[in-house]
Amino acid sequence: MRPVYLDNNATTATDASVVAAMLPWFTERFGNPSSAHAVGAAAADGVRLARRQVQALLGAAHDHEIVFTSGGTEANNTAILSALDSQPGRDEIVTTAVEHPAVLALAAHLEKTRGIKVHTVGVDGDGRLDMEDFERALGPRTALVSVMWANNETGTLFPVTDLARQAHAAGALFHTDAVQAVGRVPLSLRDTDIDMLSLSGHKLHGPKGIGALYLRKGTAFRPLLRGGRQERGRRGGTENVPGIVGLGAAADLAARYLETERGWIGRLRDRLEQGVQARIGQAYVLGDRGNRLANTACIAFDYVDADALLLMLDRAGIAVSSGSACASGGTEPSHVLRAMRVPAGAIRGALRFSLSRDTAVPDIDRVLDVLPDIVGRLRSSSPLWRDRAPTFA
Ligand SMILES: *Cc1c(COP(=O)(O)O)cnc(C)c1O
Repeated sequence: MRPVYLDNNATTATDASVVAAMLPWFTERFGNPSSAHAVGAAAADGVRLARRQVQALLGAAHDHEIVFTSGGTEANNTAILSALDSQPGRDEIVTTAVEHPAVLALAAHLEKTRGIKVHTVGVDGDGRLDMEDFERALGPRTALVSVMWANNETGTLFPVTDLARQAHAAGALFHTDAVQAVGRVPLSLRDTDIDMLSLSGHKLHGPKGIGALYLRKGTAFRPLLRGGRQERGRRGGTENVPGIVGLGAAADLAARYLETERGWIGRLRDRLEQGVQARIGQAYVLGDRGNRLANTACIAFDYVDADALLLMLDRAGIAVSSGSACASGGTEPSHVLRAMRVPAGAIRGALRFSLSRDTAVPDIDRVLDVLPDIVGRLRSSSPLWRDRAPTFA
């Protein structure tokens, strides 16, 4: 039986056509794009095409607004540090309680080591941003507003185009960690106030270790990596040509198929959620159900330990993640679900199912086949289950 992989928010399978597009760039087209000869020029051509493919997926106005990085984490670090270092007199950041660690860990570090003030805006029970809190946090010393486009645990979407406008009205730059959104929701950055956006290849069926920072033309900028003049002096280091070509190919695929895929992935996700709720009591769908990624189902089960659930699903050939996995790969309860004030018992039993274009009906039906029994067995061994009360009363 083929494994059922429902952890696409952690990483996706590299598309076979992406791998095929990359292969020649390891062998006969091995050149350095900075070299003055034909071998180098061929590599520069490969990078140029990929830049246009990423530009097209983002709906960016210029191809040189794309700066290739080693992934989402580097793009986030670059954006935040650049915004602080390029705007003297502005030493505050506004972000949210539900960002990826690639934003929150850096923000905490800057607060501790540089005295940067970090405003962490909260969310409501569905994971929606507290807009009053957001507006209060903006001020004349705000260097950067950094709010993710889509949350990796619940799929909840944030109104980033509105937030970018508000950031600009306060004279601040706006960055969005769109690692989960790029390739999953249609984008047209040229029609927005967004100054910087992070994306990552391996979340959209591209390779790992490659990503990009979108940097709106004219945006004040300081490079994170200083070295050669690669990426117009914005990111030193010889380009990861095979990775860049792969990211370009993945972007091209996403641009072509995003709309159709989004429809059927959403129907599969709904089949999963409805099936789970019909078969299993005291199971709750978390996140903003009216406004989230089509591929993500975050479901909390009362009176079960998600790590035990994950293990038993894994033994049945089904890969998912628990609400804690993203934060630390272990025992810490999810900071996202805590920020949503999900009751502790439900956080303990929260699983994330994340689908992709590779997911098919039989995959979902396998989950629906085995999950009720697994949850039932775990619950019957829990002393709490006997005198149970629902968590969300
Ligand atoms: C995966 C992820 C990242 C990190 O991207 P890498 O390319 O793995 O460094 C950042 N933000 C979000 C929301 C993610 O899901």
